[in-house]
Amino acid sequence: MLSATTFRLTHEISHEWLRRTTLRDYHAGRIPREQLCDADFLLKAAAKYHGVESPRRCPICESDMHDVLWVHSDNLGRKSNTARSAEEIALLIDEVGPITVHRVEVCRSCGWNHLLVEGIAVAEDAPVT
Ligand SMILES: [Zn+2]
Repeated sequence: MLSATTFRLTHEISHEWLRRTTLRDYHAGRIPREQLCDADFLLKAAAKYHGVESPRRCPICESDMHDVLWVHSDNLGRKSNTARSAEEIALLIDEVGPITVHRVEVCRSCGWNHLLVEGIAVAEDAPVT
């Protein structure tokens, strides 16, 4: 049996606007850096082992960043709320059907992290809804 190796996101919600306003507030001194750069050990490890290089540099410290995909679904059981590679997500969809995916950018240097996009991941060849 052939398995899907790719997926696409439907019902995407972008949090770019929140990112911009958050950074504006930071530069205006309304948000302390510790509040934005609070990635914990787990999140930084997920960025290292499951993340892909981000096309952007960290908006706080200019370091390289990683984008990490987190999966969420009641159907996933204990695999819910874990970081996964794109290939693993495609396999999970094969297994349990559409799942919620969050793309989070993480700076392992300063700890900046931000939810960029959330959506429902479906198999690449699933009918458009
Ligand atoms: Zn940084």
